[in-house]
Amino acid sequence: MITGKAEVRCPFCNKSGIVAFYKPPHREPSSSRISGKSVTKQIMKDESYHIQSDCPNCGAKKKDIQAWYNGSFVELRTHEERLERLKKRGLPLILGT
Ligand SMILES: [Zn+2]
Repeated sequence: MITGKAEVRCPFCNKSGIVAFYKPPHREPSSSRISGKSVTKQIMKDESYHIQSDCPNCGAKKKDIQAWYNGSFVELRTHEERLERLKKRGLPLILGT
């Protein structure tokens, strides 16, 4: 398994420069006990990013960036999807109403 330091793009301002640790997709043994017997299965883990820094460009917090990457870590979502996602998070999109 290769885990590397990577520079990723900020989902909020679309500039790169955020330090993250990248974990590629890999199989991981997962053991479970079924009626007294231990069974080991290989489960597939998706690639993941572990954000290490705030955004140096727009100041987005690493936990926000991490939350974003947990949901979508390959491509930046379209504007509509992004709005939809913000709505689901319960953030107010229109102020002053
Ligand atoms: Zn940013």
